[in-house]
Amino acid sequence: MSLYRDEGVVLRTQKLGEADRIITILTRRTGKVRGVAKGVRRTKSRFGARLEPFSHVDLQLHTGRSLDVVTQVETLHPYGEAIVGDYPRYTAGSAMLETADRLTVGEKEPALRQFLLLVGGLRTLAEGEHEARLVLDAFFLRSLAVAGYAPALSECARCGAEAVRAFAIVAGGVVCGACRPPGAAVPAAETVALMIALLRGDWPAADASESRHRTECSGLVAAYLQWHLEHGIRSLRHVERAWSEPLAAAPEWPGASEKSHNPHTTRA
Ligand SMILES: [Zn+2]
Repeated sequence: MSLYRDEGVVLRTQKLGEADRIITILTRRTGKVRGVAKGVRRTKSRFGARLEPFSHVDLQLHTGRSLDVVTQVETLHPYGEAIVGDYPRYTAGSAMLETADRLTVGEKEPALRQFLLLVGGLRTLAEGEHEARLVLDAFFLRSLAVAGYAPALSECARCGAEAVRAFAIVAGGVVCGACRPPGAAVPAAETVALMIALLRGDWPAADASESRHRTECSGLVAAYLQWHLEHGIRSLRHVERAWSEPLAAAPEWPGASEKSHNPHTTRA
């Protein structure tokens, strides 16, 4: 198929030559796609304005040798209109786009759940019914869960004990007193409850939370996400949060250095 159609969210754009742009889009069926939009920086361009970050578009692409070429664009939801003019929404939305980009490593590898999370997150952000940082933290927690990094929040991440007292990024979530590594944060119980509510999409509970618990939640979630993405999310620097430094300064945990066993060699 040299010509294909898909819907997607524009993650970022970059200039190419005099008048073109390279557009990075997370699509519903194809996964992450990088395509060339020709002539979009000319003022007469028919679809230049539709290919801005945050836009949910329906598009047609022509498969190219290295980059695909965008041939048609229709706007489905111009989420950017309600996001870019509001600073808290803009910083949260930018962090969402960058995180979705970072979590979908390969191009043209279907990532339907990540796509649906991003569209839902941008819609919620644009509607403005919930505080932007709550929407962002819900997106982060669910994206981490989709990527296989859901933090343990109700039982000890190491031993499964129910009496938990600290949150340790290196351990993978909440931990009991016996398993608690040095340097683990001790969040309020309400903060952990807020994380659970955001992960589940329980908005009545999340909206009822106190500001100090939201602040603590944002710090823990951001540090947890950065730990898993290794290099950190640039946009997060602009999001208001309690901790300016990552919490994960602790050394490697014992399990990380275990040698992997290849079943084929051990069987031989
Ligand atoms: Zn434990």
